[in-house]
Amino acid sequence: MKVFIPAGRGAEPLDPANFTGLGTLVRMVGVCENPAINAYTVSFEPGTRTAWHTHTGTQLLLVTAGTCRFQEEGEPVQEATAGSIVSIGPGELHWHGATPDAPATHVALNIEATTDWFEKVTDGQYGG
Ligand code: MN
Repeated sequence: MKVFIPAGRGAEPLDPANFTGLGTLVRMVGVCENPAINAYTVSFEPGTRTAWHTHTGTQLLLVTAGTCRFQEEGEPVQEATAGSIVSIGPGELHWHGATPDAPATHVALNIEATTDWFEKVTDGQYGG
């Protein structure tokens, strides 16, 4: 048994190529004996979100603080509060982030999943 705590693991600024806004990402390296399972703690400042992207496998977003806003292509913008899990299937085009007025944090649990990045989420798309 091991406990993985984000503090002290080296928070990286969010890559401006793939995110709009500010925040941090902590790689929970070695979280699982299975190297195909990866966990990242992502903290978003208000208004910050990923670009549109897909994953080759399942991604679970465990909302741990605040409220996350997210959208699958062709569906309405949705929100999920801390304690919720958003499950994203392989190949689903989507984005995720904070709400406009408050910060939010989620743990992204990627299961046999790599990420392909596409366009930035416009303010119009983000606002729903
Ligand atoms: Mn995702």
